[in-house]
Amino acid sequence: MTSSPTRAQTWLDLPADTGFGLANLPYGVYSTPGTGPRTGVAIGDRVLDLAAATGDDVHATGTLNAFMARGPRSWTALRAQLTDWFTDPVHRGAIEPHLVPRGQVTMHLPIEVADYVDFYSSQHHAENLGRMFRPDSAALTPNWKHLPIGYHGRAGTVQVSGTSVVRPCGQRKAPTDDAPTFGPSQRLDIEAEVGFVVGVGSDLGTAVPVGRFTEHVFGVCLVNDWSARDLQSWEYVPLGPFLGKSFLTSVAPWVVPLAALEAARVTPPPRDVALLPYLDDSDQPWGLDIRMEIRLNGELISCPPFADMYWTPAQQLAHMTVNGASLRTGDLYASGTVSGPGEDQRGSFIELSWGGKEPLTLADGTTRTFLDDGDVVTITATAPGADGTRMAFGEVTGRIEPAR
Ligand code: MN
Repeated sequence: MTSSPTRAQTWLDLPADTGFGLANLPYGVYSTPGTGPRTGVAIGDRVLDLAAATGDDVHATGTLNAFMARGPRSWTALRAQLTDWFTDPVHRGAIEPHLVPRGQVTMHLPIEVADYVDFYSSQHHAENLGRMFRPDSAALTPNWKHLPIGYHGRAGTVQVSGTSVVRPCGQRKAPTDDAPTFGPSQRLDIEAEVGFVVGVGSDLGTAVPVGRFTEHVFGVCLVNDWSARDLQSWEYVPLGPFLGKSFLTSVAPWVVPLAALEAARVTPPPRDVALLPYLDDSDQPWGLDIRMEIRLNGELISCPPFADMYWTPAQQLAHMTVNGASLRTGDLYASGTVSGPGEDQRGSFIELSWGGKEPLTLADGTTRTFLDDGDVVTITATAPGADGTRMAFGEVTGRIEPAR
């Protein structure tokens, strides 16, 4: 016999099937017409004003950075405090006045982003792109199963969900063109990803091993790494992505604490080459059963499974620092496009439309290869919570605006 997980009782009247129950308690930064940007915790359809509830000014700074920098003991203590407040009715009178309906708040970028790194850790995504771009070679490059491939991105253009996506202009040259041309991207795409937020920095010259992941990483947020494929394919050899990616990266406003994800941990797919010792994660795997959904203009078009990712965030962190590169509070690193084996599990339009050759037909009868002006893309996700509920990650959304 198995016992079903018990759900802690709360005095709050939570909506049925809320993704923001007691098991989740994600952090964000919000404002209202009457209050400046401050830290909030989502619970049901409301937000707890943490600055007011705790009396701690660290939650009135307008970013999570100063709180994250305090480290895991503080993170654990506040999470325990929140759980106590929301479960023991004795606290209702003191806490309830600091709950604000989420419909009344404006969400802001939750962290001041220090450095931004983007990986390429889905084998299915890497193989799909390899097959499209290098049809005469092996789908994976020789290094792919030996190290998590990544690049350093542009921290200053990471913005909160809802920020308009102005179609980027740049150079593009198709293989059949004689010369490059300049103009608005004609192959504007998404990359559905999961991001990891560093709370505690590290010393220059000192690597952070796989086993120290939870001492440095605070939480998880959804990421859309908007990508201009025509700009990217012309510029990327030999130094990697540049202007085809740096015009905008969108993140969800809610950071789900790593502590909320214990029940979502899974073993990553089997590795079929031996890993160098610094990447060995066999005694503490950090695969995560996060199920993502991508909607175009409200229509569900793909469900990428994060559990299929070949490289875990703990391995990515170890690799990113193995040369002695230091971490800073507010560093953000993203997983790379999440794609599963199925055609309805692909995390980008370049895969969903197979390089533009197989357009998607939408419910309204229109077709898409890449994004049109006016299109709205929304990425959401859920993961199992410790109490048997499914936790939500909020959403990362953006509307394509015409080139300027
Ligand atoms: Mn990416």
